[in-house]
Amino acid sequence: MTQTHEQSVRFISHRITAHRMHRRGASIDAIADHLRVAKRSVHRYLALECPPEPQPVEADVDLSDFYMKGACGEFPELDWTSRSSLQQAECKAVCEHCPVLAQCRTWALTKGREESGVWGGMTKEERRRRLGRRRGRKSGQRSDVVAGAREQGAA
Ligand code: SF4
Repeated sequence: MTQTHEQSVRFISHRITAHRMHRRGASIDAIADHLRVAKRSVHRYLALECPPEPQPVEADVDLSDFYMKGACGEFPELDWTSRSSLQQAECKAVCEHCPVLAQCRTWALTKGREESGVWGGMTKEERRRRLGRRRGRKSGQRSDVVAGAREQGAA
């Protein structure tokens, strides 16, 4: 059965919230109560990968400073440059719980503002609206940017 938009976003949010509560010592029962789901759902969320806790914000940030710690690395099944509203909502749901959301959003609204795809919990269109910039400028490619960050992270 195909998941609806809302079900898919809720699954990501529940998966990350379950991990966060579990790390803080919450019981399976408490997590199930909080999320209003069955205990078997909590076990299912906890069996999946989850990003670590949020980190403090840096004022001037480079992609290589945070990208390798981003939650997106644990969701390779998502298309981060898709123009589908479902895919964008799923990516944004991951960003919402990302440990480096603040750094990524700062970068996306400054040095990475012309890059394609979802960054820092915002689509390119949302970033443009936020910045009040004109449409139509040349886009960067997420794959190129990511490859650069990986290279710098590995150096
Ligand atoms: S905020 Fe989103 S795009 Fe940025 S590193 Fe985290 S998960 Fe990836």
